[in-house]
Amino acid sequence: EAYISAIEAANGALNAYVAVTPDKARAMAKASDERIAKGEAGALEGIPLGIKDLFATEGVHTQACSHILDKFEPRYESTVTSNLWSAGAVMLGKLNMDEFAMGSSNETSYYGPVKNPWRKTGSNVDLVPGGSSGGSAAAVAAHLCAGATATDTGGSIRQPAAFTGTVGIKPTYGRCSRWGIAAFASSLDQAGPIARDVKDAAILLKTMASTDAKDTTSVDRDVPDYEAAVGRSVKGLKIGIPKEYRVERMPEEIEALWQKGIEWLKDAGAEIVDVSLPHTKYALPAYYIVAPAEASSNLARYDGVRYGLRVPGENIADMYEKTRAAGFGREVKRRIMIGTYVLSAGYYDAYYLKAQKVRTLIKRDFETVYADGIDALLTPATPSAAFGIADQDMASDPVKMYLNDIFTVTVNMAGLPGLAVPGGLSQDGLPLGLQLIGRPFDEETLFSVGSAIE
Ligand code: GLN
Repeated sequence: EAYISAIEAANGALNAYVAVTPDKARAMAKASDERIAKGEAGALEGIPLGIKDLFATEGVHTQACSHILDKFEPRYESTVTSNLWSAGAVMLGKLNMDEFAMGSSNETSYYGPVKNPWRKTGSNVDLVPGGSSGGSAAAVAAHLCAGATATDTGGSIRQPAAFTGTVGIKPTYGRCSRWGIAAFASSLDQAGPIARDVKDAAILLKTMASTDAKDTTSVDRDVPDYEAAVGRSVKGLKIGIPKEYRVERMPEEIEALWQKGIEWLKDAGAEIVDVSLPHTKYALPAYYIVAPAEASSNLARYDGVRYGLRVPGENIADMYEKTRAAGFGREVKRRIMIGTYVLSAGYYDAYYLKAQKVRTLIKRDFETVYADGIDALLTPATPSAAFGIADQDMASDPVKMYLNDIFTVTVNMAGLPGLAVPGGLSQDGLPLGLQLIGRPFDEETLFSVGSAIE
């Protein structure tokens, strides 16, 4: 009831939820009470969560914040959310996001931008919460849920977590099932939690993660007790500092944040080692070929026939055209066009195939560093703090917006786990985040090191 009233009071201003489900929440909470009374409480019994609109939730608003999925309510439940409900969690509603998870500011949503609950000290200018999981991050930061689900294709969990002072983890590719999550770029997409602290993130991920016959890329591996890793000593761990992340024109406060993180980990007994990931500079351009290529293929299914919006036309081709023209927003159309271009005959080898080769080199960079005994890497999560809604620079130049992902995309390209953890405040009083990158399937080390930082 406290969360439902908090949503009623604050959502009008923040726009974090696109659908609120109080009746469902109350029914689920009642069932929780009964299980608790019988001594059958699950791992997340009674915990109220918000769900990113990308996850299919049976009979509930699921539109990836796109007009093309107008009024779509699936008859099935995503594996990740099923896992949460089986453990007793309670659903409060669906959270705003960039349309089909394409964006870094939550401004591409059909439902309008989300406001960051944080503002600069002494300022009343509204800021973005980051994206694409902007609703998830804002809702957690503003206490409109105890935790939230999110997804990350190039940074969409870690960047909004950094912009809102919350904790987010993108686990290793394959750790969570992608079944029932609207596909953006299937080889990069992963689900993960956004939570108030490292321990909550560990508890949520333990339930979200599973192997699943319905997603052949999910991995058949036991899910470790992530919670037990929280607070574990980091003494003797080798933490790599990749020199290529010291990018040009990096703001001083980001540099200072990184240095602070290094000092904290040294004080906690970790060994700091300078390392090199030489192909880092190619990650962003390669990502913005691979991700749109996969998106253009995945989004071909929205044709006005199967679900959501249909704009009538003179014949079927006309109907497709009118539906897709009306249903997709500008950014999604831009991705479909880039993707179609780089996959087309004559350009495939020059762009798509080249980007895939670069991806292999990026992955090898990490393998080399880990083979040298590095346990995890420490970097800033983002190149800046949260920026203003409708920032002129970014609105006029999509590449400026894409640069937000400079520290996060490599992790998706290599399939590795990445954790964003708050590292303090900027000079203007805004949260700044640090990123920890781990070995494949070693989320535990990230939770240990993350808890030493927070
Ligand atoms: N900002 C990146 C993009 O627009 C990443 C989004 C994501 O991780 N879903 O593609």
